[in-house]
Amino acid sequence: MHELPAVLNLLDTMEKTAREHNIRRVTRIDLKIGELSDLVDDCIQLYFDMASEGTVCEGAKLVFTREPAQLRCTSCGCTFPHETSFDCPRCGGKTTLVRGTGSGCEIVRFQGEDDTIGWQGSLPEGG
Ligand SMILES: [Zn+2]
Repeated sequence: MHELPAVLNLLDTMEKTAREHNIRRVTRIDLKIGELSDLVDDCIQLYFDMASEGTVCEGAKLVFTREPAQLRCTSCGCTFPHETSFDCPRCGGKTTLVRGTGSGCEIVRFQGEDDTIGWQGSLPEGG
């Protein structure tokens, strides 16, 4: 049930943004989801479909991208995205997770329609 608060937060953000840009209908939202987050794509879409009824986001398609966590090497100090290995790609040293990375749910960009033309925009990082 972690998805519901995330979806409500997402809808809230989209409502405000749509109002600012005079967007009547949001058609697509690209989301970046941390690989360590326990949010499930299908559940997000399910809750989104229910919660967006009657809002500007009704019928919008969600597109998910997984964002890798960032690791930091305890030997040489470099940071890199976690892909397949937990070892440092530079020196092979042990790494630790960079706190706060690989979690959460963020809007990357969205598409919508205003009164005249199609509109595409992106939101600043970390909002
Ligand atoms: Zn290293």
